Amino acid sequence: MKSAFEVFLKDITTEPKRYIFDLDDSFFSEKEKSEIQGGNVKIQVVAQKKAEAFEFGFEIEGVVQIVCDRCLDIMDLSIVASDSVIVKQGEQTDEDFIFIPECEETFDLEWVLYETVALQIPIQHFHEDGECNKEMIKKLNACSTEKLAEEENKTTDPRWEKLKDILNNN
Ligand SMILES: [Zn+2]
Repeated sequence: MKSAFEVFLKDITTEPKRYIFDLDDSFFSEKEKSEIQGGNVKIQVVAQKKAEAFEFGFEIEGVVQIVCDRCLDIMDLSIVASDSVIVKQGEQTDEDFIFIPECEETFDLEWVLYETVALQIPIQHFHEDGECNKEMIKKLNACSTEKLAEEENKTTDPRWEKLKDILNNN
């Protein structure tokens, strides 16, 4: 089946060629192990042939849904970014480029588009102050206080208790 994100390499010349892709909830939710739960992102791709390489420039704009690090609820993250990749045909000789077989007539942008969006997500991300799920924060705090109390109990070694008794008696 032809992917909706496939472009014909012979269509790409030294004249910039534009493609518009809309990535929706189903695009993101179909990806396995995706950090992105859903979203609505428009990507304008400008493809151009440069020497023996194909350059794909991306203008990304939209919103993705990801899990908040603080309250674990789903949050919206706005993304506005530009990025690019260079695709070459032939043997893989350089990690900076994407290599595809010489005989390939098309290039499937699906994974590249996904990765480009995923790369824009900061390592730490949470709701704006005051917008986290308060109930969840309460629960999470309760859990961590309980754990802390448990840890404290564990560190009380009976031998120390004995030593304390001896010291107190002196
Ligand atoms: Zn939150």
